[in-house]
Amino acid sequence: MKVTLFGTGYVGLVTGACLAEMGNEVTCVDVDMDKLARLKRGEVPLYEPGLEPLVRRNQANGNLGFTINAAPAVASAMVIFIAVGTPPSEDGSADLSHVLAVARTIGQHIRQYVVVVNKSTVPVGTAEQVRAAISEQLAARGAVVPFDVVSNPEFLKEGEAVEDCLRPERIILGSESARALAVLRTLYAPFNRNHERILVMDARSAELTKYAANAMLASKISFMNEMANIAERLGADIEQVRRGIGSDPRIGHHFIYAGAGYGGSCFPKDVQALRRMARGRAYEPLVLGAVEAVNHAQKLKLYDLIRRHFAGQLKGRTVALWGLAFKPDTDDMREAPSLYLMRALWDAGATVRAHDPQAGDEARRICGERADLVICDHPYQVLEGADVLAVITEWKLFRSPDLARIRDALREPAIFDGRNLYDPEAVEHAGIAYYGIGRGRSL
Ligand code: NAD
Repeated sequence: MKVTLFGTGYVGLVTGACLAEMGNEVTCVDVDMDKLARLKRGEVPLYEPGLEPLVRRNQANGNLGFTINAAPAVASAMVIFIAVGTPPSEDGSADLSHVLAVARTIGQHIRQYVVVVNKSTVPVGTAEQVRAAISEQLAARGAVVPFDVVSNPEFLKEGEAVEDCLRPERIILGSESARALAVLRTLYAPFNRNHERILVMDARSAELTKYAANAMLASKISFMNEMANIAERLGADIEQVRRGIGSDPRIGHHFIYAGAGYGGSCFPKDVQALRRMARGRAYEPLVLGAVEAVNHAQKLKLYDLIRRHFAGQLKGRTVALWGLAFKPDTDDMREAPSLYLMRALWDAGATVRAHDPQAGDEARRICGERADLVICDHPYQVLEGADVLAVITEWKLFRSPDLARIRDALREPAIFDGRNLYDPEAVEHAGIAYYGIGRGRSL
């Protein structure tokens, strides 16, 4: 099938490559010239396990192409995906300008029946706005071309995006058009082989499903962080509590880890946008407000622990940092807790020496050249001249550290474990002070 996809970010590029892998002819359109130039050279501009070989293979066999030129890509497509960004506006609502710009481009260039599929995370009612934007352009051209708009929210996880795209848990199609649904059932058939994964619903419910899913996951994290803060004050260990509650199948083990707060390009902006949507209909969502408030405080939790350790005197101190990305297996630092920690440390006069297996370049891009940030290529290099070590991203690389080496390298051996990766007793036994999240003795 001829597929055109707008946006070559985490969602668009992965989706395009996976559809090409199944034998479709996929053209990816973007407005970022640099990104397109890199992609055309066979370079993948973001880190996602398994993506590079997939892109290269399908580029080489002619199934996957990249262009800035939308007109021919739109005119020849059977299905057009919108996978552009929907960043937060100043008031917290989702900025739809990229989505609607793509809709107008589609309206300007379609020549035959096409299914427009929206994969971007968008407020409820956006499918109707996309339809109206396309219709307006058609009317301006004096053209009559049939088309359908389907809401198809994306659930892939950065770090596991290729696997999630090839083997999705569910494929939600929000549409009442039998014609569009038939086209998408055919397109998605290779991803829907072993058991039925397609859920059909109306577009508004599909749009809200995406926000509800992210809000639920964010709530689980904030709930556990709140429990961790209570555990800490009551002398209990949240890690034992986590295992205790996770064994209840109604609760489950997933997403109940206390830590340094959630970040990324989705949870923070989507919880905020959902709050805005509710308020727009005169409903104050109390749970969502609390989820955000707890997370905001939690992102500064490690900083508070470090500040207390040094009795508020951070000027001239050096903090070694393991992790920069908002989670492991990605180079994405959007809303990363590491940024909040580093900014607080810098404001207090401390220097940061950081290592991340993938996000070093992204940190340099975001933070620029500054004397109080040293990015190191090796995890143990960050310890040189550092007072203490903080761990903020749970990369596998950091899970079994050489504690003796850490103790010998740090000036005042202490580990601030923002992901509760280590056994406090083992760390203390090695002669290192231990601070975790919600582990009784941290206060
Ligand atoms: P991204 O920022 O990585 O990529 C967006 C891309 O769209 C960029 O390359 C940008 O240049 C391009 N773009 C912007 N305007 C364009 C236009 N008019 N025409 C063509 N390309 C244009 O974004 P992302 O992380 O892939 O997210 C895309 C959408 O998917 C967002 O709505 C996001 O909320 C949603 N989503 C993201 C994830 C995730 O894990 N990243 C998961 C599920 C859903």
